[in-house]
Amino acid sequence: MTTLFEKIIAGEIPSQKLFENDRIIAIKDINPAAPVHILIIPKKVIPNIQSLAEDDLPLVAEIVKVAQQLALDVGIQDNYRLVTNCGVDAGQTIFHLHFHLVGGRKLHGLG
Ligand code: 5GP
Repeated sequence: MTTLFEKIIAGEIPSQKLFENDRIIAIKDINPAAPVHILIIPKKVIPNIQSLAEDDLPLVAEIVKVAQQLALDVGIQDNYRLVTNCGVDAGQTIFHLHFHLVGGRKLHGLG
């Protein structure tokens, strides 16, 4: 089944794009949990971090680099959270791997 993020990557659903290259897109979360809430999404269809293959590990490293740069760009480089939810009970609602870059306020427990 095509996920919402595949449609966003394909440009079929609009998004506020902050970064894009051949492998990765970063967009503003539509329902931000904090003043900064960015979703960093690989274009490759990977359901979640548990289904990540060894060959995909460089992609995760690149996502971390993108997160570092975005954190600098928006001025939260000293305080942020980079989170991925894996599975329904962990809060995953879209089964296409993505990382939440969250900051801009004091963050409390993981919930
Ligand atoms: P998850 O719950 O799977 O870890 O994260 C999915 C995230 O996608 C949520 O934070 C939710 O607010 C965000 N989201 C859901 N629908 C849309 C949408 O249409 N556009 C954008 N930009 N974000 C969305």
